[in-house]
Amino acid sequence: MPHLLKSLELNGFKSFAQKTILEFPAGITAIVGPNGSGKSNVVDAIRWLLGEREAKNLRGGKVEDLIFAGTPEKPRQSLAQASLRFQNEGNFFPVDWSEISVTRQVSRDGESRYFLNQSEIRLKDLIDFFAKVRLGTKGLIVITQGNSDLFIRANPSERREMIEEMLGLREFQIKKLRAENQLKNTQINLDKVRALIEEILPHLRSLRRQTARWDKRDTLETELKNLENVLFGSEWRYLHQEMIKTDEELSRHKKELTELEISRAKAEKHQKEVEIGEPREREELKKIKLQVSDLLEKQIRLEKDLGRLEAQLEISSSQNLPSSLSNQKLINLIREVRHHLELGLDKNIDEVKNLIQELLKKIDSELALPTGPSPKPNLEVKSQLEKINHDLGAVKKEILALREKEKQLEKSQGEFYQSFKSAVTAVEDSKRKIESWENSNQKIVFNKERLSLRLEELKRQIAQAGRHPKEIQELILGQALELNQGLESHELRELERQIFKIRGDLASIGEVDEALVKEAKETEERYQFLKRELEDAEKAKGNLRELIRDLNEKIKTEFNSALREINREFGNFFKLMFGGGHAKLNLKKADKKIVSESNGEEGKVENGGEAEDDTSEGIEIDLGLPRKRLTSLEVLSGGEKSLVGIAALFALISVSPPPFLVLDEIDAALDERNARRFAELLKSFSKQTQFVLVTHNRASMEVADVLYGVTLNNDGTSKILSLKLDSAS
Ligand code: ATP
Repeated sequence: MPHLLKSLELNGFKSFAQKTILEFPAGITAIVGPNGSGKSNVVDAIRWLLGEREAKNLRGGKVEDLIFAGTPEKPRQSLAQASLRFQNEGNFFPVDWSEISVTRQVSRDGESRYFLNQSEIRLKDLIDFFAKVRLGTKGLIVITQGNSDLFIRANPSERREMIEEMLGLREFQIKKLRAENQLKNTQINLDKVRALIEEILPHLRSLRRQTARWDKRDTLETELKNLENVLFGSEWRYLHQEMIKTDEELSRHKKELTELEISRAKAEKHQKEVEIGEPREREELKKIKLQVSDLLEKQIRLEKDLGRLEAQLEISSSQNLPSSLSNQKLINLIREVRHHLELGLDKNIDEVKNLIQELLKKIDSELALPTGPSPKPNLEVKSQLEKINHDLGAVKKEILALREKEKQLEKSQGEFYQSFKSAVTAVEDSKRKIESWENSNQKIVFNKERLSLRLEELKRQIAQAGRHPKEIQELILGQALELNQGLESHELRELERQIFKIRGDLASIGEVDEALVKEAKETEERYQFLKRELEDAEKAKGNLRELIRDLNEKIKTEFNSALREINREFGNFFKLMFGGGHAKLNLKKADKKIVSESNGEEGKVENGGEAEDDTSEGIEIDLGLPRKRLTSLEVLSGGEKSLVGIAALFALISVSPPPFLVLDEIDAALDERNARRFAELLKSFSKQTQFVLVTHNRASMEVADVLYGVTLNNDGTSKILSLKLDSAS
């Protein structure tokens, strides 16, 4: 015999102001008592503990109505609490605990709390916990007072829910409902994401178009940088090496200058020494030359005088001399003397001297020839002639002597000039060498200047390219550039051409608008994020649809197979209770039903669109009463409605027996015969199901294993009495 419900504890719940405990044995527990004593409050408490959240289903307008409201004798309470204990030895609940207690509290400020074995949980978790073991408030587990015809009053969808809960399909329905809600939310999310994507896509396309041309920029800039590295690097390296070479050349050259200056100093010193050694006779030579010139003039004068005297003498002789032949001879001799004298200017003076003396002797001998008495004037001329000849001889002698001296002086002067000339030439040579050194030095310096100008220009070009000379230097030092081989000029030109082209390309691409790039990047990221969201949502949607399909399949299969069995039992019980007729539950497609997990937190979902499926088919009741023609269920009497409900309940529990049922006066409207039949059936079902029954029926009380009496205390609060069956009868 199943024994799941162990006890119920009430404290401040409705009329149970004090702590009250009801123990439930296996089998049937009947709760009896006068009207208004609080029997139904016990059933309300069980329903509340199984997760009921609608106050109206607990016969109250608001949650506060669950809390003991007070009586003239007893003050109201601020908190209502109820606990239901289950035994779990057989692991009816799929947890390791051997006993399970569920506690629920509500305070006047409306705060509700739920505990599972003293641990606080959410209402949703509590509902799930019970749904897993086919317990809940949707079905027929707890039939509250006045609801014996609940199955008939319910609409087709609600009937289906009741059956599903009894069959244990409620768990899957809840799962399905959640999946449908998730699907709906996913769809909403999908629509939102799609709308967002559609909103940003045109803007993104425009941003992509604008920034696409800048994408090439990076590649071009890298290419440009590499080419510049080669160009600047090779130029830098070349100039650097040339500078070093030039500096070396300069210092080498400087050493040469020292040597040249030393040899110039030596040459100048030598020249000075030569100058100092210049002979002093120059004035003397000048004087001699003047003297010679004077003497020559004097000689000419004397010769003229001599000529004149000779002419006089010739004239007088021609008058006195016997023959003109002798005079002619003298004239010839005198001409000869004159001739020798003239020649003597160029000849050796001694030779001339001898010739003249010989001629003079010849002239003397000629003159010594007897000529008769010589006149006095001839003697005078003769003496004058002698004197002139004497003077002439002296002059010539002197000229010869001076010429000799002059010759000597000129010789030493010539030697001086020779050595002076070579000293000056040596100085000039050394100066010329220094001059040529200076020229070549100038060339080197100029070359260096040119190199440093090129370096400056290169630096300027580097800076203009937005680079720093240090970068290039580091590249060369780090040997990041392969510049071992210097670049040929055609290679350099090609490099420059490429650089020029890339710069042109970059210029035509234009400067990057950082703000636009940032915006494009952010928009792209947002777009990609949304795309991923969309994909995730699509995937989730697919998964949810699949889950819903699987759940639908499971629910449909199990429900339809159970429904066939239920119908068989329903028909039997109906016939038993009505003494004939027929009853059947039929599936009916709902036009549009509202499925709500009223005890859950998901809210409502329309069971259309995505969620439309076979499991939305409701249950209609098809009845045929013996001897009656039934137009609608509404026309049934209260007792008939109860009987149909009870037949349906028994049909359900015979197919899928629940662990317990709590029934509040469902037998109230039954006549004695049916009440007895009900009691008998109850007794027989109690082998599979534990019953808690509120009843006024004697037959029902008789089949009960335990009987509790509920009475009112003097202070208006309910209390429980354990009654023996004997006393109850
Ligand atoms: P009947 O046999 O007529 O169905 P019953 O035994 O089932 O009666 P209940 O409906 O359980 O009686 O109890 C109703 C009683 O509980 C009423 O007297 C009502 O005043 C009392 N009651 C209900 N709610 C509260 C509350 N919040 N505080 C105090 N008493 C309450």
